[in-house]
Amino acid sequence: RAKQEGRNTYRLYRAEMDRQAQQHLSLETALRNTLEGHNGIEMHYQPIYNRNTGAIASAESLARWYHPDHGWVSPGTFIPLAERSGLILPLGEHIIDRVLSDINHWRKAGITPPPIAINLSAAQFWQADFIAKVEKKLKDANIDPTLITFELTESMLFERREQGMDVLSQLSALGCRIALDDFGTGYSSLSYLHKMAANSLKIDQSFIAALDDKTHDSRPIVAAISSLAEQLGLSVVAEGVETEQQLALLSQYPIDAIQGFYLSRPLTPADFQALIAT
Ligand code: C2E
Ligand code: MG
Ligand code: MG
Ligand code: MG
Repeated sequence: RAKQEGRNTYRLYRAEMDRQAQQHLSLETALRNTLEGHNGIEMHYQPIYNRNTGAIASAESLARWYHPDHGWVSPGTFIPLAERSGLILPLGEHIIDRVLSDINHWRKAGITPPPIAINLSAAQFWQADFIAKVEKKLKDANIDPTLITFELTESMLFERREQGMDVLSQLSALGCRIALDDFGTGYSSLSYLHKMAANSLKIDQSFIAALDDKTHDSRPIVAAISSLAEQLGLSVVAEGVETEQQLALLSQYPIDAIQGFYLSRPLTPADFQALIAT
């Protein structure tokens, strides 16, 4: 009987696996078609505020995919899918192109946008011609490299740190800025960090969410990361700030900029344009 039940469970499990595989396959096909058609994936922009002045210091571009049947598919789903299926390279290019074209759209409207951050995937970062591609795209779009920040995680560098540091130096030599995303959750190495061509650290949102956690209060971590960054001359962004209480708790640390739903959600290009036009 137990055996029978086990078998049934296994069958259910298989059916679920097949269903998921099917769903992934159809999503993958849809993503491929979307990328070929150059539409359906757009960028939203979440403002990042200077903590002291309250001014918009920069904004992070975040990919959004509108699927006709599934509605909005979140990047937490389609970025890993793209990474598994090799679509991440064309997707990554599409994302950079979209951001540059949005920037030029705003400029044509007479608006000077703040620096814009673009998230990178590991495969993108490790392409042999990545730097050359970025340089060409910026030149073609006539956009000053200092207006672009690339966000990456230290985990992306983990296996080949020396080469990774080299790519970062080249990016930085182009004039682009570099932010270490989700800082504190990955593979940090202090011996590399102090030599790295990074400009800022983004304290991972899990630490912001746990600022007032009764059992695992993250304040010692936030204190340590922000003072480390300050000592290293890096600017610090707190991301995922959702409440007034969190913002208040952050006031005792040397944090330069704040990003989070409490201040603004990611905005459509049009809404972001309206925000920076005022
Ligand atoms: P991330 O780069 O760490 O981006 C921050 C994520 O936190 C975004 O989720 C943003 O919408 C969300 N967020 C911002 N403020 C708050 C807040 O106050 N509370 C909460 N709960 N969340 C907040 P999103 O847009 O769903 O993106 C998730 C992840 O997907 C990103 O994490 C990034 O790793 C990846 N991603 C997004 N866009 C791109 C892209 O264009 N290229 C690549 N390679 N990855 C991307
Ligand atoms: Mg990011
Ligand atoms: Mg992050
Ligand atoms: Mg993240």
